Amino acid sequence: MKIVLATRNRGKIREIEKLAPGVELLTLESFPGLKMPPETGLTFSENAVAKARIVAEGAGLPAIADDSGLEVDALGGRPGVFSARYAGADATDEKNYLKLLAEMKGIPMAGRSARFRCVIALAFPHGKGTFTFDGVLDGFITTEPKGENGFGYDPVFFLPEMGRTAAELTLEEKNAISHRAMALKKLRGFLADLKGPLFD
Ligand code: IMP
Repeated sequence: MKIVLATRNRGKIREIEKLAPGVELLTLESFPGLKMPPETGLTFSENAVAKARIVAEGAGLPAIADDSGLEVDALGGRPGVFSARYAGADATDEKNYLKLLAEMKGIPMAGRSARFRCVIALAFPHGKGTFTFDGVLDGFITTEPKGENGFGYDPVFFLPEMGRTAAELTLEEKNAISHRAMALKKLRGFLADLKGPLFD
């Protein structure tokens, strides 16, 4: 069974590589002519589905794509689908989380709830259908960055049950609870159960 992973991000390729046994994972490198659509959707699901569908139809094989980001309740769910480019065209992880801390200045801890969300889409070619799998990780936005690990908003994302920010977790600790790991687990279960016509 072959599945195309609709990303050029090496980190994501490594994470998703440990899929259900029997899955041969191809990447976009095997399909140099395939162009990814811009991420213009209003939800993570829209973006993940659009990427997976284009690659599935272009490659003629099942395809997987994901989209993820941070939703902050006090900001009505922002930065959401704009998480990666929150601080503008030249955004870096640090610029993004410093902008977030500035926007949240003065908000007490009880009002700083947030979550990371990840949606993975699995699309089958020839219009056979698309399935989505999601994962969330709940926490609070801190008032200052802490920790050196992880990426993105991890230094300002506090996990109450761990008593640390996501950037203070080891990769193994984060992978055991992360939104991406949860969505991947659901996808793995689906692939393991899936037999028959969708892969014929
Ligand atoms: P994507 O590559 O389009 O899914 O963008 C995801 C963006 O959301 C990243 O650039 C980060 O800013 C943020 N993000 C997603 N997952 C995480 C995480 O696990 N930790 C910290 N930031 C994350």
